[in-house]
Amino acid sequence: MASAVFLKPGRDKSLLRRHPWVFSNAVARAEGDPRAGDTVDLVNADGRRLGRGAWSPLSQIAVRAWTFDPDEKVDEGFFRERLDRAFELRRAEGLWDPTGACRLVNAESDGLPGVVVDRYAGFVVCQFLSTGAEAWKETIARAIAETIECEGIYERSDAEVRKKEGLEKTVGVLRGVEPPDLVEIREGAYRFLADVREGHKTGFYLDQRDNRLALGDYAAGAETLNCFSYTGAFGVVALASGAARVTNVDSSGPALAVARRHTEINGLDPERIENVEADVFDLLRTYRDSRREFDLIVLDPPKFAESRAQIDRAARGYKDINLLAFKLLRPGGTLFTFSCSGQVSPDLFQKIVAGAALDAGRDARIVRRLAQSGDHPVATSFPEGLYLKGLVCKV
Ligand code: SAH
Repeated sequence: MASAVFLKPGRDKSLLRRHPWVFSNAVARAEGDPRAGDTVDLVNADGRRLGRGAWSPLSQIAVRAWTFDPDEKVDEGFFRERLDRAFELRRAEGLWDPTGACRLVNAESDGLPGVVVDRYAGFVVCQFLSTGAEAWKETIARAIAETIECEGIYERSDAEVRKKEGLEKTVGVLRGVEPPDLVEIREGAYRFLADVREGHKTGFYLDQRDNRLALGDYAAGAETLNCFSYTGAFGVVALASGAARVTNVDSSGPALAVARRHTEINGLDPERIENVEADVFDLLRTYRDSRREFDLIVLDPPKFAESRAQIDRAARGYKDINLLAFKLLRPGGTLFTFSCSGQVSPDLFQKIVAGAALDAGRDARIVRRLAQSGDHPVATSFPEGLYLKGLVCKV
């Protein structure tokens, strides 16, 4: 007999809409003494079974549903089927490239809460971010090893969210060999290097793939400022697409060191790329005061809002950098501006950018709306899955 989690009256609505999270304040009681990560039946106040999920006693999200079919077995076969379904989606998106990089499993949105699987050419990098994901780690690694030809499977379960689940950070080889310091990947005509062991996320910003390509359309002849550049991937595309000059700005020295290698391996002229280690907030002010101008500016800051309480502060941050960027643009120039804070809705983000243009005294129009790439799908029942949004504005 499986353990069961009983919901309070009226607290079954989100599960009925196939949203996978059950918050701890919706739980009336747990029966059968489940341990963290165990599969429990989800039962509403009328005694109706609504699905099955992973128990996480320390988290505010007490259960993450694996399935909304109360009779579906959660076993090795279940994970194989879910993984295959996720892989099939990437094949259909044309992203199944053994030399490329791609998110193969996007957690909740692929029906596998807490499980992230990214491919970097010959290496697969996994994150197990919830108690349920942790409990099935071996099963998932085995299934990946049997499905994907790769040199190694590496675990990067070092994200802060593990703490909320009562899990320690864990990194290391799960299968095969340790990845090299930098793994080379292909993205269309470009070559990039991902630091899968120490780099941000699992090594590279895969979610910006489509938006990097879009930048190329605006780069011809453009003096380009790439803010929050990380390893300068946007800068590579801009320069390869005919930008006159590119200035990458990031506060991370190691990221900029990789940016320099990117210039090299893509055969770009190092004279036309400058890598500046600085705080973007400060540097934009310096450029404003010295009346520097650009034709193309990218703003891709880190997540400013981690929780709802931080939305106002985040909004001020976005307003600040967008206002300064609008001031630095030459007439006819283009701003690529992003927010990866899930808490900031596309609507709010557009309002902030509009306010920034107004206060900068610029007449701006949105010509494109951008989002995360197709290998970061958003399940329709899980709108939280949409976090990255971008606007292309012309002034
Ligand atoms: N545009 C990048 C991803 C950017 S992620 C890409 O496409 O690959 C955000 C980056 O902002 C990180 O590299 C981080 O080091 C940098 N960063 C964070 N705060 C910063 C600040 N105040 N000034 C400059 N860089 C900052």
